[in-house]
Amino acid sequence: MNFDQFSLDPRIRAGITSAGYTTPTPIQQQAMPVVLEGRDILGLAQTGTGKTAAFMLPILQRLTKGPLRKVRALIVAPTRELAEQIAETGRILGQHTKARIVTVYGGVGKTPQINALRQGAEIVVACPGRLLDLIGEKQIDLSGVEVLVLDEADHMCDMGFLPDIRRILKHVPAKRQTLFFSATMPDEIRGLASDILTHPVTVQIGIIAPAETVSHALYPVPDGLKTKLLLTMLQQTPTERVLVFTRTKRRARSLAEILEKNGYRVAALQGNMAQNKRQAAINGFRSGEYDILVATDIAARGIDVASVSHVINYDMPDTVDAYTHRIGRTGRAQLTGEAFTFTEQDDEPMVRAIEKVLGNPVERRRVAGFDYAGALPSLKPAPSTYARQQAQSRPAAQNGGRKQGYAKPAPPPAAQGSRQASYAKAQPLPAHNAEAGAGQPGKGQHGGNMAPQPPAPPAKPHAPEKPPVPTPAANRPSLRRRAGRRQGTQA
Ligand code: AMP
Repeated sequence: MNFDQFSLDPRIRAGITSAGYTTPTPIQQQAMPVVLEGRDILGLAQTGTGKTAAFMLPILQRLTKGPLRKVRALIVAPTRELAEQIAETGRILGQHTKARIVTVYGGVGKTPQINALRQGAEIVVACPGRLLDLIGEKQIDLSGVEVLVLDEADHMCDMGFLPDIRRILKHVPAKRQTLFFSATMPDEIRGLASDILTHPVTVQIGIIAPAETVSHALYPVPDGLKTKLLLTMLQQTPTERVLVFTRTKRRARSLAEILEKNGYRVAALQGNMAQNKRQAAINGFRSGEYDILVATDIAARGIDVASVSHVINYDMPDTVDAYTHRIGRTGRAQLTGEAFTFTEQDDEPMVRAIEKVLGNPVERRRVAGFDYAGALPSLKPAPSTYARQQAQSRPAAQNGGRKQGYAKPAPPPAAQGSRQASYAKAQPLPAHNAEAGAGQPGKGQHGGNMAPQPPAPPAKPHAPEKPPVPTPAANRPSLRRRAGRRQGTQA
C-alpha cells in the first residue's frame, strides 16, 4: 500500500517523497479518500497518527486547481506550537506546489502576519484569539474558504476557545468542507461537531495507541524529593531525549534551572516564554542541542520530536487525557518509549483512572539505593489535582473570568493547608519555605533541592550554596553515547 492509490498531483507526490513518507498511516488510508471526495470528516485521532498529512495532502490537491492568493483553507489549532507544526508539514508536503501557508497566532507581532496575508496565501493556520483580532480589523478575508479544519478540538474546548470557534464560524462560508479532529469526544465537542459537520464520515484511530509501544511505571515519592529522584534517575537510566512535565510554568522554569546547574543540556518550555524562545526550545530539543525539555502541558501540545525515549511526569497530569497526550510524545511511529510518573498520595485517584484506561495496573517502582527519607524543600508547590479540578469546575466568573485553561487555580484554603501540613511532616523546615525562596532572583525556590546530596540538616537557603557538582557528561549513560557520537562526527 503506497500513496499512488490516491491519484495525487505529481508535485504533491514529490512532496511526499521529500517528506520521506512511503506508506500511508492508518488514518491517512482511511481519511484521505473521503477528504479527496470533498466529504466532511469526524476524526477521532490524536497527534502522532499522521493526521496532519491526512488533511493537508487533500487540501494541497484541491489547491492545484482554482484561484491562487486567496485564503481557501483555514486550519484552526489550539496552540502556536501546533499551528507552526501543521504549517511546517504543509510547507514540506507542498514544497513543489505554489501553495503559500501563513500562520496566525498571538504572542508575536501582528504586522508580519498581516504583511504575509497581504502578499496572498491559500492556507492559513491559526489560533482562535489572533484570528478573531485580524477578522475584527478586516485584515483577513475568509469569504473564500472552501475547507475548514478544526484540529485538537477537545483541547480548544479545554482552553475555553469554543465561543471563539463559534464566532469564527460566522466568517467562513456555510457551504464548505469541514474536517474535525479530536482525540476525545466529550459532550460539548460532540455538540459542536454535530452543529458544523454535514453527513460526516467518522474515522477513528487508536486513541490510546501509545500504550502499545510505551511501558509505564509509577514512582511514588513525596514532592520534596522529586528533584533528587529525577537527578538520580537521569544518572542511572540510559536515555535519548527526555521530556519532563511539570504542572505549573514556574515549576518548569525552576526545574530546568536546577537540571542545567547539574550539567544537563536542558531547556524549559512554558507558556510565559516569548514565542521565539518557545520555538528555540523546541528546535533545540529537536536538533539535539538539548537532551531534556521541561514543559507544561499546554506549551508541549503538538511537539513532534523523534527519539524521545522517556517522558517523565514530574507532576501527575490533571486528566487521563493529558496523561495520554504526554506519553504520546514517546513511542512514536513504532518506536518504544518509557513513561515514568512521580506520584504523591493525592494522585491515587488519577492513578486508578489511568490504570482503568490502560486496562492494566501500572507497575510501582522504587529506585534502588535512593534515600526516600531525605526530604528536601520542594519546588513551589503545585496545587493538588483535586484543588485544580475544583478550581476548574468553578464558573468562569469565580476564576476571575479567565478562560478555563489559563486559569491559575487558587486551591481552596483547606486543600492548600492540608498539603502544606503534609510537607511539614516530611520536612521540618525553618521559617523559609518553598514560597519564601521563590521570589529571590538567582536563588529560585528550590533552595537546597538541587544536588543529589545525602540528607543533611535542613538546607539553609539564605546561606551561599555550594554549587552542585555536575556529573561529567561522559559518566552519564545517556550522554556518554552522545559524547561518543559527537566525537565520531568530529573525527
Ligand atoms: P501527526 O500525527 O500529523 O502529528 O504526525 C506524526 C508524525 O508522523 C510526524 O512526524 C509526521 O511527519 C509523521 N508521518 C506522517 N505521515 C507519515 C507517513 N505516511 N509515513 C511516515 N511518517 C509519517
